[in-house]
Amino acid sequence: MKLTETTPAMPALARLPQVAPVERPTPVTQPFMPPLGEYLPYLETIWSNRWLTNSGPYHQELERALEQHLGVEHISLMSNGTVALWTALQALKVSGEVITTPFTFVATAHALRLAGATPVFVDIDEQDCNIAPAGIEAAITERTSAILPVHCFGHPCEVDAITRIAEINDLRVVYDAAHAFGVQVDGQSILRHGDLSVLSFHATKVFNTFEGGAIVSPDGRTKARIDRLRNFGFHGDTIMATASINGKLNELQSAFGLLQLRYIDGLIARRAQISRRYHAALADIQGIAPFRVEGVTLNHSYFPILVTDEYPVPADALCARLTSAGILARRYFHPLICDMPGYRDLPSAQQPLPVARRIARQILCLPIHPNLSDTLVERTIDILANG
Ligand SMILES: *Cc1c(COP(=O)(O)O)cnc(C)c1O
Repeated sequence: MKLTETTPAMPALARLPQVAPVERPTPVTQPFMPPLGEYLPYLETIWSNRWLTNSGPYHQELERALEQHLGVEHISLMSNGTVALWTALQALKVSGEVITTPFTFVATAHALRLAGATPVFVDIDEQDCNIAPAGIEAAITERTSAILPVHCFGHPCEVDAITRIAEINDLRVVYDAAHAFGVQVDGQSILRHGDLSVLSFHATKVFNTFEGGAIVSPDGRTKARIDRLRNFGFHGDTIMATASINGKLNELQSAFGLLQLRYIDGLIARRAQISRRYHAALADIQGIAPFRVEGVTLNHSYFPILVTDEYPVPADALCARLTSAGILARRYFHPLICDMPGYRDLPSAQQPLPVARRIARQILCLPIHPNLSDTLVERTIDILANG
């Protein structure tokens, strides 16, 4: 008897649940959605391939496309940035103490904890909000195995100084490059530094695959190791000695990434336009200090400002004022990780960390995303200028 393929009838109930569109205030960021019609051919291919995950054709194509777009040789897609950070730390066998920044998203420190390492927080630089190399050197002990710097807001870290410190002290370096998609210095990707760099493709990031991330490796052997670690530690059909995680990105998300990539240059150009307008308008406002990072191709993922003591109200009050006008600015990254439960009892959290603590108090990230209208940019500027 020949079995024929049939589509089972849909149960009546399954047709009911529908989520209504949500109206929300102007967020600090918003994902770009390509025209739905352009996604449908990808879906049709996935439906006919029935290859949904485990390094499918779109997954492979996105790895190649991202390598080309970002100017790096070896990319491993991951299910999200946090799992990617954890996997990168496993690949380098990081343990003991790891020197990092307190001025970042919690996932940076969480990944260390999940990998069984102890975060050691050091102060940051007020020019770019990144870990200060002098602080790294002072924090090294015989238990230090690695440095985990963050290219905060896509501002490049002092990579040459960090490389030097790592070489002298035999430390591994993993960059949390969650904010640094496409960032270049002298035409070179910032992702080419350190032992590994980790990207996030979360919905709030410049380039997104709903959830997702990637690890950039310096060579094929390292990429092969990462690829095994993201797939339970499988080597071919056999499991390796190491227990590992499921960190794979699926075909639906990979296809969405390929579609996003077609638009990314235009999206970043629109962000750059908004950034230029903010810079021009805020230059004259007493007590509002935007960051000027020279000689870098930024991705304009964030528009951070410092609300200094010369401004009539502190950053939290200004943030509340914007929120009541329907504009959601965000205090990234307040509070500092070293002041959060779960971290504040660590020895390094007891230090003064004066720059990080001041910046955390004064920081405010203004709305910036490709869908943001000129009207809303002007309204934001008006509130900053006139209260
Ligand atoms: C978003 C982010 C992460 C985590 O990425 P997910 O993809 O959301 O897991 C890690 N570090 C920093 C600095 C981030 O901003």
